[in-house]
Amino acid sequence: MNATLSQLAYLLAAVCFIVALKGLSQPATARRGNLIGAAGAVIACVTVLLTPGLNHRGPILIAIAVGLLVGVLGAYRVQMTQMPQMVALFNGVGGGAAAIVALIELRSITTAGGASTIHLVATAFTILVGAVSLAGSLVTFLKLQELMTTRPVVFPGYPVAYAGVMVVAVVVAVIVVVTPSLALGALLAVLGLALGVLLVLPVGGADVPIVISLLNAFTGLTVAAGGYVLGNTLLLVAGTLVGAAGTLLTKLMAAAMGRSLVSTLFGALRGGSTQGTTAISNRPVKSASPEDIAILLGYADRVVIVPGYGLAVAQAQHTLRQLVDVLQERGTTVDYAIHPVAGRMPGHMNVLLAEAQVPYGQLKEMAEIDPEFKQTDVVLVVGANDVVNPAAETDSSAPIFGMPILHASQARQVVFMKRSMRPGFAGIENQLLYEPGTTLLFGDAKDTLSKLLAAVRAL
Ligand code: NDP
Repeated sequence: MNATLSQLAYLLAAVCFIVALKGLSQPATARRGNLIGAAGAVIACVTVLLTPGLNHRGPILIAIAVGLLVGVLGAYRVQMTQMPQMVALFNGVGGGAAAIVALIELRSITTAGGASTIHLVATAFTILVGAVSLAGSLVTFLKLQELMTTRPVVFPGYPVAYAGVMVVAVVVAVIVVVTPSLALGALLAVLGLALGVLLVLPVGGADVPIVISLLNAFTGLTVAAGGYVLGNTLLLVAGTLVGAAGTLLTKLMAAAMGRSLVSTLFGALRGGSTQGTTAISNRPVKSASPEDIAILLGYADRVVIVPGYGLAVAQAQHTLRQLVDVLQERGTTVDYAIHPVAGRMPGHMNVLLAEAQVPYGQLKEMAEIDPEFKQTDVVLVVGANDVVNPAAETDSSAPIFGMPILHASQARQVVFMKRSMRPGFAGIENQLLYEPGTTLLFGDAKDTLSKLLAAVRAL
């Protein structure tokens, strides 16, 4: 393939990536967007393979085959609730790959006799930030997979260690630019790995996915800088897209949890992380049978469903949709209230309910549905807890304080479907469970929803 053709192919791939991102911004077009992005990646890989004079085609093809196998197996076997750690792993590998490419480039620079300063700056940046992204992503993976503590880890002298490694890394990066050497490049990579570990250690609980998104932005910037180093426009464009998308997602997630990026990263140093205790209270609550709740739902005009992490755990989304269908056939208006951080990953509830063929129009974002709780007869909270916990507004010591919540408490009746009195992810009690207008329907969501469905059908 000649140079003009390959540039055109790269342009086409870049357009695919941009169209893919646009598609991914809406549930209705997300699947198509994903496929368009994948097509762009295939075009990019094939273009590289068709480059005249490309060395080591055999090993490259073997590496692609191994990567494909791991990726396909991973995608089929990983549970949806484990998606954040899978993203972390893939993201870290991307940053690590960019850092290795930059190290190889540095070796060529040292043997071929120099490069421009800007070229060397981009190379040093790619090595350092790529290594940060690799190590940081691996630690977030270990945390989310619970292979290490999910709590923030801080130790005496942490700020000094962090600042010390950061300063040494910047100094070594400057020396790499002034007097390029592979040994110094390798040292820079090791310092980057240490920085990545130190960056993520103090982050715990619900903040970990925000950091994954931040590291994703880092990987994007690394890949963009790598594209500059290699003179590859497509890498530059793709890296910039990932960097920008990662930065925006980080900002949106932090806002959805009511936290600043600084308190996300370093809150633990001030004792302000989002990891609470897991105390179980034995205060009395009002509970009822599926038949009682069926009567409540069957005669309500307006019902709002608040889905949460427990719905995903119970895999009860199909039964829930059937229940909603039956209620709608009876003339009830039903919507789903989607909190931006319900579940365990961004967009978790949208994906879960889309799987059950829930029409997108029924999924209402927080800002749209929240004012409607006052006119709602029954709010059915299915496996959610933190996202309706008033402590986010009333208790400044709560780990979720400041997080915007769904004001389910304003409805006439609130029904919680959960298995026990255990708290949600943040590990704190929910006062709403004890309010006079609240009823608990205990049991696994799939089981209780099936009973509820049968009871509503029998009305
Ligand atoms: P929560 O974790 O607050 O609550 C989940 C509830 O589901 C619990 O009350 C649990 O109670 C119940 N539950 C668990 N399994 C089942 C089951 N099989 N059947 C019925 N109920 C079940 O979930 P929310 O969705 O309300 O809140 C999400 C939390 O996760 C927030 O704190 C958010 O900050 C955090 N988070 C969100 C991320 C995101 O990007 N979306 C990322 C990381 C964290 P019981 O055990 O008694 O059944």
